[in-house]
Amino acid sequence: MPADLPTPLVAVADPVLARAGVELRLKRDDLAHPTVPGNKWRKLAPNLERALAEGCTRLVTFGGAYSTHVRATAAAAQALGLACVGVIRGEELATAPRNWSLRAAEAAGMELEFVSRAEFRAVATGEYHDLERRWGRCLVLPEGGSNALAVAGAAEIPREIPDLGERDVVCCPVGTGGTLAGIAAGLPPGGRAMGVAVLRGEGYLETEVTKLHHSAYGREFANWRIHHGYHGGGYGRVPAELDSFAAEFEQRHGIAVERRYVAKMLHAVYGLAGTAALPPGSRATAVVTGLPDPV
Ligand SMILES: *Cc1c(COP(=O)(O)O)cnc(C)c1O
Repeated sequence: MPADLPTPLVAVADPVLARAGVELRLKRDDLAHPTVPGNKWRKLAPNLERALAEGCTRLVTFGGAYSTHVRATAAAAQALGLACVGVIRGEELATAPRNWSLRAAEAAGMELEFVSRAEFRAVATGEYHDLERRWGRCLVLPEGGSNALAVAGAAEIPREIPDLGERDVVCCPVGTGGTLAGIAAGLPPGGRAMGVAVLRGEGYLETEVTKLHHSAYGREFANWRIHHGYHGGGYGRVPAELDSFAAEFEQRHGIAVERRYVAKMLHAVYGLAGTAALPPGSRATAVVTGLPDPV
């Protein structure tokens, strides 16, 4: 599943940020791979290497009806010739017409299994042995795809940025925290990571990132923090103000802005420019973690 690495690093000239004394660059991870874009490729790549090395021929993962991680897993399995199962939250979906996201997963060869919310919770929170009995030798990826290997994959992002130092802040959206955990771990000394929560998760998300650091590296990192003022009301919520901010950014800078994650991160960069989070003289490198949905 070859990717186009390193992904481009491009400077963005913006008068609003210039007035705050802040530079902005975009790390275009949305261009990493044609069918598995963005941070989903970063997080899947080491897991797939492991699956192949261990002779697993099937991937199993979990998610909601519109999960980007589920679609990305289906596309990655297809690229590698592996079988793949998606366990989807919501048994009522089994008989409903497939939405575009599930249709794409199925078109890539994923077998879908619909379960009730209660079953989903039980299975997705770690009863993996039953899954193996059911599906045979398989690599099980958690909902959202964040595990220790995924964190190691995301740690490659800052390593592709050649000149990070004391004035640099690498920014990313935070859904499950795997991407932020990896970026923080991959930074050189002095660099800082800034996560922007895309859902209401104050406290919870910090705990998740810390857990991921423990499982990937057996230690904690102190070079990151999460901002919680830019989730726009919750996961998937895109208030009109956020939408018009993103539309204006697209128009000014000629790049498509994914709304549920990337727009919230960029909104935070603009909102925090000139404050202690991004003081005058600092340079923000915003990781473009994905592409807009096709519909
Ligand atoms: C899944 C996703 C994220 C969230 O990444 P986590 O590692 O779960 O925090 C961020 N941006 C985009 C575009 C995504 O699709």
